[in-house]
Amino acid sequence: MLEIVSFTLGPAQTNAYLVADSETKEAAVIDPAWDGHLILAEAQKRGWRIAHLWYTHAHFDHIGGAAAIADALNPLPLVALHPNDHVLWRAGGGGAIFGFDIDPGPEPTIDFYQGQILRLGSVEFEVRFTPGHTLGHCILCVPGANVCFCGDLIFAGSVGRTDLPGGNWEQLEKSIKTQVLTLPDETRLLSGHGPATTVGEEKKNNPFVGGS
Ligand SMILES: [Zn+2]
Ligand SMILES: [Zn+2]
Repeated sequence: MLEIVSFTLGPAQTNAYLVADSETKEAAVIDPAWDGHLILAEAQKRGWRIAHLWYTHAHFDHIGGAAAIADALNPLPLVALHPNDHVLWRAGGGGAIFGFDIDPGPEPTIDFYQGQILRLGSVEFEVRFTPGHTLGHCILCVPGANVCFCGDLIFAGSVGRTDLPGGNWEQLEKSIKTQVLTLPDETRLLSGHGPATTVGEEKKNNPFVGGS
């Protein structure tokens, strides 16, 4: 069964999600935002083994904790990211614009693609390619648990910014409409910033995607 522990960390108050299969205790960190030692300590407390780091996108505030997590693990976790965000990853996640010079941690060696299935024990995550906030942004949905980790694509009552390098409003809008609003209304959306919401709630109330 999927278990989720959420953290809000770092200078941009980014949400990081430690997820695990409660039976096998195999764990992944979706967006190890900042202060990796805190995420690591929680995993150790629960007896979970972090085997994967999954990035919705390569912005510095979503990967800033990766190095501290990886440094403490043997074997190293496998890092997955969409290839369109590799350039951003190499550029330190664009942190320089904001005055941050981060250690990005281990190199991504697994390429996300639309429709890819990731497995954590018996839990299946589906990768959906959702450019617009960055060139390689992806979201990770768990249909079996009615939950979707949506990074900086959509927030409760708002959407990801498109004014940074690689941002594109038309793409963002299309990604939300085709990849998020097509999920069942009761699907919980766990975003990169701010509180959780649901697909139904955003259809009704998000002014950026047709709600009022
Ligand atoms: Zn971002
Ligand atoms: Zn962010």
